[in-house]
Amino acid sequence: MTNRIPHWIDGARVDTPDRRTSAVFDPATGVQSGSVVLAETADVDAAVRAAALAFPAWRDLSIAGRQTILFRFRELLDARKGELAEIITAEHGKVVSDALGEIARGQEVVEFALGFPEALKGDYSLNASTGVDVYSFRQPIGIAAIISPFNFPAMVPMWFFPVALASGNTVILKPSEKDPSAALWLAALLHEAGLPAGVFNVVQGDKVAVDALLEHPEVASISFVGSTPIARYIYETAAGHGKRVQALGGAKNHMLVLPDADLDQVADAAVNAGFGSAGERCMAISVAVVVEAVADDLIEKVTSRMRPLRIGDGRRDCDMGPLVTREHRDRVASYIDIAAADGAEVVVDGREVEPDGDPNGFWLGPTLLDRVPTTSRAYTDEIFGPVLSIVRVDSYETGVELINASAFGNGAAIFTNDGGAARRFQYEIEAGMIGVNVPIPVPVAYHSFGGWKASAFGDTKAYGREGFRFFTREKAVTTRWPDPSHGGINLGFPQNA
Ligand code: NAD
Repeated sequence: MTNRIPHWIDGARVDTPDRRTSAVFDPATGVQSGSVVLAETADVDAAVRAAALAFPAWRDLSIAGRQTILFRFRELLDARKGELAEIITAEHGKVVSDALGEIARGQEVVEFALGFPEALKGDYSLNASTGVDVYSFRQPIGIAAIISPFNFPAMVPMWFFPVALASGNTVILKPSEKDPSAALWLAALLHEAGLPAGVFNVVQGDKVAVDALLEHPEVASISFVGSTPIARYIYETAAGHGKRVQALGGAKNHMLVLPDADLDQVADAAVNAGFGSAGERCMAISVAVVVEAVADDLIEKVTSRMRPLRIGDGRRDCDMGPLVTREHRDRVASYIDIAAADGAEVVVDGREVEPDGDPNGFWLGPTLLDRVPTTSRAYTDEIFGPVLSIVRVDSYETGVELINASAFGNGAAIFTNDGGAARRFQYEIEAGMIGVNVPIPVPVAYHSFGGWKASAFGDTKAYGREGFRFFTREKAVTTRWPDPSHGGINLGFPQNA
């Protein structure tokens, strides 16, 4: 009997025995560890009903009341994050220290969201016209749905739900069916913190559940993170159903290395950002664009740092864990053949890895490809694994041109000691998040996260000020209190005097 992973609806775990299920694996052993229940439309309807019933009381709860619950959640999360990290590692495969890192970045958003009274304060204009005052404030939008990817089962939901809840909305989270238990753990913790039943719900599922959320008339907004083709579909379908949508997609992040950069620092950054979390990060560096003069030196420094990396079970103090599923591992590995067939040089082949773990785990070691042709699918596709490509260029200008020609525009970084070049880069690059000598420029919680081009659809980023804008709508009120000296009939359009 495997562990069944159910929904969380109206403050309790809800199983639906007759539904389809999907297998969940421990990627470090290749053994099935659970079966996640897949929602049908009726299950999504039940979650929406619970969220709709809970909404008025949650919206009307005082600022102090909402703060108390969210603060308690922050305290419980901080105290018990080790449990959550174990769950993430068991289903995703990333090493425990990395799982703790993603929780820390999610917790940062909880802490930011706790300042919501400041973010939601309105504006007031006294005497806009004689005796007329105008003020505006922001109100919650209703039921906010979040659809999240496998690679950050705790952090990505936490990019959205703390802000959505703080703003007075109720939430339905549809996590990835590959690692669904973290969402359930977070729901139980919110419950323990005192969040009323129905305010936060988890619906497990696949496309059926997603489509039911996209089409449901009572769901006000969709916050999606995942691959680009699905992000585009989500954006078009949800917008077609009149919803507010933010749909973050895939990525192919470049780092441009100029000859004056500190090459030891660059090599550390390339290895950390290329192979951390087995490259399954939307802000991973997947291409190093290196000015020819320093390319050989850099490759030497990168390979010498790759050799001692320990690949293995994330619970054994390794540097890098397995990939999330066998199919994904095989797909990523296939790009090594594609690159080689297209003329790239395989400098380090991750298929030869000797992992510290069960031989049936979904292993692929760090891989380095040099002289990758920009016409190869190994360059143009998002690989989403521990494969770092080197593309050699002759100058800053050629590097920028290459980066801007990419279909994606999530993050980009420059490594240089030339302030003028860095200044030009941050202005000229067509991407939403830029690093200067910083390889993974994920903005802190009080700035917002989001890419450009095929890396994001919709015009509002995640968390920060933009997060509060997304989860609230503004209302403007024009008031005149009775004054016996004013009044009279005037059918003309109101003007200010
Ligand atoms: P995915 O697109 O396969 O799945 C994401 C979510 O969509 C999951 O909840 C899944 O159940 C659902 N889904 C999958 N297929 C669907 C379909 N046909 N119709 C409706 N819903 C569907 O992505 P993934 O493999 O879980 O995650 C990896 C991807 O996410 C990568 O492309 C990565 O770059 C991207 N990502 C982007 C960001 C960002 O901020 N831009 C952050 C993290 C991950």
